[in-house]
Amino acid sequence: MKSYVGMMLCPLCEEPVGVALDRSLKETLPEKFVDPTAVCDTCREKYLDTGTMIVCPETGQIVTVADEAFERTFTIPIPESKVCFADPDVMAIFPEPEVA
Ligand SMILES: [Zn+2]
Repeated sequence: MKSYVGMMLCPLCEEPVGVALDRSLKETLPEKFVDPTAVCDTCREKYLDTGTMIVCPETGQIVTVADEAFERTFTIPIPESKVCFADPDVMAIFPEPEVA
């Protein structure tokens, strides 16, 4: 029995951050895929040290927002993981994704 392996990419720089093994999904597991929460160490240090990443699962849009701006913009506290999810309405307040 063959296992399918997918390469997990950092959502910010698209460097591989790990592999995912999958037996149940088989062919549906893409060869390369982005896990929005699997930010590589380099990007975590670069962006998430002083910023928070906001991911829109519907559109795949990702922005990083400085903690200061996050606190100014949102009423929720900065999440511990420095990664949070938003719907397209919320994403619309960001004119351009900082990291495509
Ligand atoms: Zn990265």
